[in-house]
Amino acid sequence: MFDLKAGFLGGSTAVLIRKAVEAYQPTLQKNVCCGEEMTVIHNTESFPYIYGNQECIIHVTDIPMWKCQQCGEVEEDVTLMAAVEESTDQVFESLLNSGDKIPEEMHLSFDEMLEKREPEQQVVNG
Ligand SMILES: [Zn+2]
Repeated sequence: MFDLKAGFLGGSTAVLIRKAVEAYQPTLQKNVCCGEEMTVIHNTESFPYIYGNQECIIHVTDIPMWKCQQCGEVEEDVTLMAAVEESTDQVFESLLNSGDKIPEEMHLSFDEMLEKREPEQQVVNG
């Protein structure tokens, strides 16, 4: 069984996510569609990976996004989503390299990504 925490949540992945979250402002903001304030919701985003003739879909749950209170339009934070996608790429790579059977689907929690801290010797300054 693939050890998600050991395989994925170390090194550059945690750095990426943390940088994106530092830039993310979880506050109400004016929205581009109709000017109403937006509220923060948590959504799931799915990332499909094709390998050989098979597919693995990684679902990332609880990703913070903005939703317009007026018309319901949902807006993603581009930087945050890029970091999430990069992280799921790394998860999938770890799966491939692990030699374990790759599941057709797996779920990751955004919060879980955030809470991880890498070992101190891997922290790079600058
Ligand atoms: Zn709107």
